[in-house]
Amino acid sequence: MLVKIGRRDFLEGLYRGLVAMGVGSLVSFEDLARAAALPVAQKPKLVWLHGSSCSGCSVSFLNSTSIPVLDIVTKFVDLVYHPDISSATGHQVEQLLERVADDKTPIVFLFEGGIPEGLPEACVMAERPIGAWVERLVPHARAAIAVGTCATRGGIAGMPGTLTGSTSLEGYIERRGIETPVVSIPGCPVKPEHIVYVLLHLIQKGELPPLDERHRPLAQFGHTVHERCIYYASFQEKQFARFIGDDGCLFKLGCQGPITRNDCLVRGHNDNINTCIRAGHPCIGCASDRFPRRFMMHAYDDPRVGKLKE
Ligand code: SF4
Ligand code: SF4
Repeated sequence: MLVKIGRRDFLEGLYRGLVAMGVGSLVSFEDLARAAALPVAQKPKLVWLHGSSCSGCSVSFLNSTSIPVLDIVTKFVDLVYHPDISSATGHQVEQLLERVADDKTPIVFLFEGGIPEGLPEACVMAERPIGAWVERLVPHARAAIAVGTCATRGGIAGMPGTLTGSTSLEGYIERRGIETPVVSIPGCPVKPEHIVYVLLHLIQKGELPPLDERHRPLAQFGHTVHERCIYYASFQEKQFARFIGDDGCLFKLGCQGPITRNDCLVRGHNDNINTCIRAGHPCIGCASDRFPRRFMMHAYDDPRVGKLKE
């Protein structure tokens, strides 16, 4: 049976989503209604590009089931281009992005994946290396937002042994003297709530949220996973799990919570259904500078685990 819902009911549903995402303090229901009523031409324009990535951050962002993240975001922005959801392809994309660059439109620029500086042909869009698109679009952007650990640190794409020399968005634009403010939102994958928080802070308050020295939002990355862990008391009492599934602190199974900043024990993945440690698995430090580590296995008796440094 087709159920019709009115505009106000629809917006109320979106607003409940915003509150569930923890960003209700940034936006009132009236703000949402006002943003939804704005003509598209008057909304801030958003461009999202992929570098060397698995698209996992986009999947994380778009796959949110109980919270319609895309509906929420597009009430506040005009989504000019996203490689996974836009219908434009090939030279249409080139024309679209060239127009934005020529007009010096102050876009909000989101970037997922690393930039293969050592092998530019490894990642090409419309016959141009992705790095060239970054150089074309970022100088006039209001902010360059790196989503996911590949974009913030090189991540999987830049791990030792790969040939691409993949680097972070921040490093890439810094080396080219581009001074656009950067926000880094690490995580493998990124959490949709973190993106929505940064976007709405920028749009509603007209400024970026408070950031740490690595340009991470303090609201989500101000604490280590360890500091808010459900096993923190076990850690202090030296009650360590010996096997996955045991009760107790997972430090001796290689947990990277003490060196990883993220809000996972407050806000988990998949609309906060669960997160690594609550599911009984050590944090693998997906949002840390050391991800991916050379040594990712977990074994109680292995002398390499239980140390903060490799
Ligand atoms: S499980 Fe990990 S994050 Fe939690 S207390 Fe132990 S070492 Fe810290
Ligand atoms: S607990 Fe650690 S590995 Fe898991 S999502 Fe959080 S930061 Fe990443």
